[in-house]
Amino acid sequence: MRTFQIPKYYKSNIITGLKKKRIEEDPRKKDYSPSVLDYGNIQFLIPRHFGFCYGVENAIEISYKAIEENPGKRIFLLSEMIHNPEVNNDLIGRGVRFINDTAGNQLITLDELTPEDVVIIPAFGTTIETLKILEEKKLTALKYDTTCPFVEKVWNRAGTLGKTGFSIIIHGKYRHEETRATFSHSKQDAPTVIVRDLEEAKLIGETILGNISKEKFFELFKNKHSAGFDPERDLYKIGVVNQTTMLASETQNIADYLKSVMIKKYGESNIKEHIADTRDTLCYATHDNQKATLALLEEEADIALVVGGYNSSNTSHIVELCETRFKTFFISSEKNLISGKEIRHYDYNNHLEISTNDFLPQKKPVRIILTSGASCPDSVVEAVLNRILFLYEISV
Ligand code: SF4
Repeated sequence: MRTFQIPKYYKSNIITGLKKKRIEEDPRKKDYSPSVLDYGNIQFLIPRHFGFCYGVENAIEISYKAIEENPGKRIFLLSEMIHNPEVNNDLIGRGVRFINDTAGNQLITLDELTPEDVVIIPAFGTTIETLKILEEKKLTALKYDTTCPFVEKVWNRAGTLGKTGFSIIIHGKYRHEETRATFSHSKQDAPTVIVRDLEEAKLIGETILGNISKEKFFELFKNKHSAGFDPERDLYKIGVVNQTTMLASETQNIADYLKSVMIKKYGESNIKEHIADTRDTLCYATHDNQKATLALLEEEADIALVVGGYNSSNTSHIVELCETRFKTFFISSEKNLISGKEIRHYDYNNHLEISTNDFLPQKKPVRIILTSGASCPDSVVEAVLNRILFLYEISV
C-alpha cells in the first residue's frame, strides 16, 4: 500500500515503530493478536491494527501540501478534515478555517469565498450540491480533494446499482458528513433511504412485508429519504452500503436481515433480483480495526483506554466493543489523565465529558489495553502511554 508524507510530529517512535514491525513480520495480516509492551509493572496491550488509515493519511498529505503550495492565501476546509482535535487544531494554527462544523452548521458562507481562495474537501467527501457551488465559483477544491477513495467506492457502487434499478439503503448517522455526502451522491441515480441501525432496518423490513403503511414510513423516515421515494415501488430491489466507519458487523447484520426479508417475500431462487451483495464496499481499515479490537477482547486486561476525537464515529465503535468486556475510558489525549487517581473521559451516550476517580488499578502488574480511532495520530497514543507510565510511578 502507498506511503504518505505526513508531519513527523504525528508519528511516534514506540507506536509507529511497533506497527512497522508487525507489518514486516506479518504483511498478509494473518495474525490479529495484540502486541504486548511490557514495562514490568505495567503491560500495554496494543492491537494489531489501529490509528491512521489510508484515507486519513491521504487527507493529511494533501492538506499540508495545500498549505505549503499557497503561502499568503486564505485556505478553507469544507468541514473538519477528520474527527481529531489535534490534527484540526494544528491546521487552524496554520491559518486554515472551517466552513462547516461537524453538525453541518455553516460557520462561513460560501458567498464569502473568491477564486483566489483555496478550498479543501475533507476525507468524508462532500455533497453534489456543494460541489456545484464550488465549480460555479471557480474555487480550487478539485485540486485539493481529500475524499477517501474508499468513500468514493461506496458512491460508485451506489450509482451502479441505481442505474440497474436498485434502491440504496445507507447504514449511517444521518448528520455525519460522510453519510450526508453519500446520500447526496447516491440519490442522483437511486432512490435512497438512511437507516441508523438494525432497529431502523427492521422498520424497512416491515415496510417491505406490508406491515408498515406508506404514511407511517414517511413519518418514520422523515428527512431520511430521497425526494419522490415511494416505499411501495422503491423497496423491490435494494442494496445496502454504509458510512464506512460504522460497525462492519452491524452493516452485515442489516444486509443479512434484509436478505431474509426478501427471501420471505420473493423466495430464495430470485434473491439476487431483490438484494445486491455489497460486502465489497466495506472499508478495509474499519474492518481491520474492528477485527483487531475483537482480538483484544480475548485477552485479560484491567482497563481499556481508547484515544480519539469525541465526534469520531469509528472511535466510538471501538469504545463500544471494548466496553463489552473491560472498564473502558474514551479520552482525546494525555491531557485527560489528570492524576494517578483522576481521569476525564467521554460518556458518548450522554455526550459529555465526565471524571472518574481511582481509574488506575493499584496492582502489579497492571494490564492496560491502549488503542485509538482511525483519525488519531500515533504521537498522541504515545503521549498517553508515557503519561500512564509517569502517573503509575508516582501513585502506585
Ligand atoms: S476509515 Fe476507511 S473510508 Fe474512512 S477515511 Fe479511513 S480508509 Fe477511508
